[in-house]
Amino acid sequence: MNSAVTIFEKSQEGQKAYSLPYPEAAFSALLPPVELEREEELPLPQIAEIDIIRHYSTLSRNNLGIDTTFYPLGSCTMKLNPKANDEAASNPGFVKAHPLSDDIQVQGCLRIIYELIEDLSAITGMHGGSLAPAAGAQGEFAGLKIIEAYHRSRGERRPEVLIPDSAHGTNPASAALVGLKTIPIRSGVDGDLDMEMLKEKLSSNTAALMLTNPSTLGLFSKNILQISSLVHDKGGLLYYDGANLNAILNVARPGDMGFDVMHLNLHKTFSTPHGGGGPGSGPVLVKDFLKEFLPLPRVIKEKDGFRRDFTEGQSIGRVASFQGNFGVYLRAYLYIKLLGMKGLRHVAENAVLNANYLKTLLAKEVNVPFQGPCMHEFVIQCDSFLEEGVRALDIAKRLLDYGFYSPTVYFPLIIKECMLVEPTETESKRTLDAFAAAFTRIIEEIREDPDLVKSAPHKMSVKRLDEVQAARQPVLTAL
Ligand SMILES: *Cc1c(COP(=O)(O)O)cnc(C)c1O
Repeated sequence: MNSAVTIFEKSQEGQKAYSLPYPEAAFSALLPPVELEREEELPLPQIAEIDIIRHYSTLSRNNLGIDTTFYPLGSCTMKLNPKANDEAASNPGFVKAHPLSDDIQVQGCLRIIYELIEDLSAITGMHGGSLAPAAGAQGEFAGLKIIEAYHRSRGERRPEVLIPDSAHGTNPASAALVGLKTIPIRSGVDGDLDMEMLKEKLSSNTAALMLTNPSTLGLFSKNILQISSLVHDKGGLLYYDGANLNAILNVARPGDMGFDVMHLNLHKTFSTPHGGGGPGSGPVLVKDFLKEFLPLPRVIKEKDGFRRDFTEGQSIGRVASFQGNFGVYLRAYLYIKLLGMKGLRHVAENAVLNANYLKTLLAKEVNVPFQGPCMHEFVIQCDSFLEEGVRALDIAKRLLDYGFYSPTVYFPLIIKECMLVEPTETESKRTLDAFAAAFTRIIEEIREDPDLVKSAPHKMSVKRLDEVQAARQPVLTAL
């Protein structure tokens, strides 16, 4: 659709109106004409500023967050996001850039998008991509659409996606959204894919294998090159779930492992605070032969600047409005430029070191299902307290009383009473020691007085919530 959009701009001389041609119009973002402006004051309730401040400050103190406490939530990479990046991303030149501006007016923004795609491609060993998807899950959706479009362009219909049983729930959910059937692949005793089952399930129906490497068990698949040739030999593609990239930044690249399509979670690995549902960004990256299928718009570099291209061609089309979550791109761009490739490698090395250190401390208290070193996160099992009636969830709640956010519980689904612990690279030895000490104390409490742990938390403003209902029917307004 080619419509002209009228922009109203207020200045001291009054109001100016001008028209901007653009493929799409976001009318809700525009100011109303003067004749529609309210004349009388809006009758808002009166409340003193100090009361408002106290209300919100008190609410904020009821939260545990990364700025107040250690937050080892496995798979989610809850690490320090440098405040300098937030500040730079708040620069009015970027914040006030209007999504309907002409390309010529937003050359800086387009350059950031173009260069960030280049940097991310270099870091992952891919050849290009799109930043548009607004979350990892949406990156998966876009990636699978690309895979489907690729097979279709070759006159093939391949209805199945192979997904390990340790995978994040979004993997099968994305496959279902795209209309593909999930074939689960078992993990072996070493946590790696069961190769026999993989060979058995691979066929001319296989569109792709979706793999997280290191996996959500915190283990790097040593068979990856063999897995890659098995899948490719059957004409399937390899999809990389990049949520765990923190573990291998500038150490290993998914592109070199044989992956064809992948997503990243900029809000995990690349410096955007997250939790509570957003904002996020899940760029989808591909090898050369899949570039033509990437979502729109493309950002193209020409002799005299950057340009957005909306030509449909073989593209899967749009997956987000405008350019996606631009503020997240800025933070990622700055993070990469500030750290440099050497700094990114340090991120991975320290994330892995911290995880192995904490694993060694916790292994004195609980079962660790996989022996040997882990990557950036690890699984522990809290099944030895079931006789006392204490479950992983109880320990998680008791950790809150000690001022620590809990690790992820009951994921991956294949490990009984598990916790997935991801300390991240930004924590000190002192913090890891303090967490391990609190954990040890809780194990003692289970022996002395299990009810104390079973009825935790005792120091929080709320007790145990119905988390399923909170997710399904959230109440987002104050009562
Ligand atoms: C977080 C995560 C996802 C989904 O990403 P979102 O950005 O939350 O949509 C997918 N896979 C793994 C392994 C993850 O940790």
